[in-house]
Amino acid sequence: MYDVAIIGGGPGGYAAALYAHNFGLTVALVEKDQVGGTCLLRGCIPAKSWLQTAEVYSTVAESADFGVVSAPPQVDWPAALARKQKVVTGLVNGLSGLLESRNVDVIDGYGRLVDGGVEVMAADGATHRVEARNVIIATGSVPRTIPGYDIDGTRVVTSDQALDWSAQPSRVAVIGGGVIGCEFASFLSDLGTKVHLFEALDSLLPGTEPEAVKVLERRFKKKKVKVHTGTMVGPAQVTADGVVVPYGDDSVEVEVVLVAVGRAPVTSDLGLEEAGVTLDAGFVVVDRDTMQTSAPGVYAVGDIVAGVPQLAHAGFAEGISAITHIATAGIAPVDYRAIPLVAYTHPEIASVGLTEAGARETGIDIDVSSHGMRGVGRAIIQGQTGGVVKIISEKEGPIIGATVAGPGAGDMIHELMYVVAWEALPAEAAAFIHAHPTVSEAIGETLLTASGKSLH
Ligand code: NAD
Repeated sequence: MYDVAIIGGGPGGYAAALYAHNFGLTVALVEKDQVGGTCLLRGCIPAKSWLQTAEVYSTVAESADFGVVSAPPQVDWPAALARKQKVVTGLVNGLSGLLESRNVDVIDGYGRLVDGGVEVMAADGATHRVEARNVIIATGSVPRTIPGYDIDGTRVVTSDQALDWSAQPSRVAVIGGGVIGCEFASFLSDLGTKVHLFEALDSLLPGTEPEAVKVLERRFKKKKVKVHTGTMVGPAQVTADGVVVPYGDDSVEVEVVLVAVGRAPVTSDLGLEEAGVTLDAGFVVVDRDTMQTSAPGVYAVGDIVAGVPQLAHAGFAEGISAITHIATAGIAPVDYRAIPLVAYTHPEIASVGLTEAGARETGIDIDVSSHGMRGVGRAIIQGQTGGVVKIISEKEGPIIGATVAGPGAGDMIHELMYVVAWEALPAEAAAFIHAHPTVSEAIGETLLTASGKSLH
């Protein structure tokens, strides 16, 4: 009898398994694949590896501007693919070792809730039961597609296959201008692939500050990405050597189509409804204070949770929250107000809390302050002045949201994460000094402006 059985070894599940040692809980982690989940195997980590290859390529391609003369770079796709795989394998092995050192029993097989326990089906079809006082469901998500785009893995693919392309595609149509679509468009175009990017809504990265989206659009324009916003595509026509993607009165022929229109929760065939777990459109409804579902002793974390962002770091926090409740009956609710969102495009776009439009929609009276990177010494030195910081604060009140676009935005956002989480007033945050010369000074300048007294 384990204290906790966890179904799914991605960020939500493995974080719960690792955190349990703090309370001396015994843990079984049921996983049908390798541990690591979407994030390590088919998501964050491999995608960032490709983005890193693209960044190195761009640095070499643009090196003459910095007085470093080199031969024009060439993409060695198999080497980049091998490096990506090495990074993934290293992290998966590290995670496996860590789970072992924490005495987590990793059980190979497909887990299903049955009569208060977990039934595990091995690859050969044999089943056995794992008894546990509590169960955490952490089964993650899979890519969705749209009508007319049946995933065949060759001509019409999702990010699952695109991260493992064995050769560089020359022309790609990306359907969906969300985070996945923009990250792929970014690294593919940086590496010389011709990209058409289709987004049904009026803007790339819907819900992101328009000033930040503009920064990315400028880079896409430079890299000749054809961005089609407010555009619905017709059904794909797969030919012998390509795919025709119709849109409006026009069409484009590409080598391959990448569908990136969101991810669906994996919640069927797990015995959830039978166990009394309430679902909403396939997502699991939980008590946000504890991550417990409507079935006592059954918790859910990660991409399957209803109404919260599908992010690895949200999954980590939810795993911690569920384990805290299991171990102590106390609560450690995830502070969803202050979860940073990062698009690791080139340049990066990161945000935390509310956007200007989001704050206005809720009727809050706000002040908006922003600063470009054009006058920021370090950004000029790096040759990356296309960036912006935007800070939203309540009138006479705390900072409630912020966005950074530019070099290193994904790391810089964390100072604003604390500012938003701790509900700092602009003057309180502006009182501290940023090192010079750093790109972060753009945040310091914006905080000063938000406090009513600007400097540069
Ligand atoms: P998403 O929901 O972020 O974006 C999908 C986009 O596709 C939306 O902008 C939507 O308007 C558009 N779309 C939907 N149907 C369309 C159609 N028929 N034609 C054109 N456009 C259409 O989903 P995603 O980018 O697939 O990412 C999935 C999840 O994974 C998200 O929750 C995302 O936050 C997460 N993720 C996060 C990161 C990160 O944090 N860096 C990276 C990758 C994925």
